[in-house]
Amino acid sequence: MLSVANRYGVPLWSVSTGRNFAYGGAAPRLKGCVVLNLQRMNRVIEINETLGYALVEPGLSYYDLYQALQARSIRLWLDPPAAGWGSVVGNTLERGFGTTPYGDHAAMQCGMEVMLANGEIVRTGMGAMNGNQDRQVFKAGFGPSYDAMFMQSNFGIVTKLGIWLMPKPEGYMLCCVVNSDTTPILRALSRRCVR
Ligand SMILES: Cc1cc2nc3c(=O)[nH]c(=O)nc-3n(C[C@H](O)[C@H](O)[C@H](O)COP(=O)(O)OP(=O)(O)OC[C@H]3O[C@@H](n4cnc5c(N)ncnc54)[C@H](O)[C@@H]3O)c2cc1C
Repeated sequence: MLSVANRYGVPLWSVSTGRNFAYGGAAPRLKGCVVLNLQRMNRVIEINETLGYALVEPGLSYYDLYQALQARSIRLWLDPPAAGWGSVVGNTLERGFGTTPYGDHAAMQCGMEVMLANGEIVRTGMGAMNGNQDRQVFKAGFGPSYDAMFMQSNFGIVTKLGIWLMPKPEGYMLCCVVNSDTTPILRALSRRCVR
């Protein structure tokens, strides 16, 4: 696909699940793009409960990953954005945020596999070393780090991504803080929150 696109100079617009709603969805910004939808690459390749990470493909949504954790009774939590329909890969590459201590998704990324425009595959961090077992644990690797080059960019198509998962807490409580100046709609919402 990439070599054909390269040969004929056709721009590609890659989406993981294409559900970047409110930011344009899967619609390309550039006229004449071919949309490369990776939705069917949706495997959980690995979940490591001991080391606290998952390795996933682009089409896997947060909801899918949650179900995979539940189905295997794994005592790890993921941090989703407010809307769980999107993909772990798409949201992380868009530098999405959640609300737990693991809420900075780009910071919780550890080890990507990326296809470059010339069709070559690169692996970031420790993945650059063939057969390395630490690629989803230690993000620095050796030498310069360039993971961020693939975030909000068009320098490559991410085909696998490692994401850190947090230990499931013994208990949790959702809270929001409001003050007397709060607008009526926030006041109404806050009645459902613990103060
Ligand atoms: C009501 C609402 C609430 C929301 N709340 C939050 C929130 O709390 N936190 C938050 O972070 N977001 C939030 N969002 C945004 C939205 O949920 C995410 O942006 C969504 O997860 C991304 O969808 P997606 O994974 O289908 O992205 P996609 O459309 O698949 O991808 C988004 C973009 O990332 C790039 N990209 C995707 N996949 C690849 C790839 N494999 N390789 C290279 N580049 C790629 C492309 O530029 C693509 O256009 C909210 C949206 C709505 C509508």
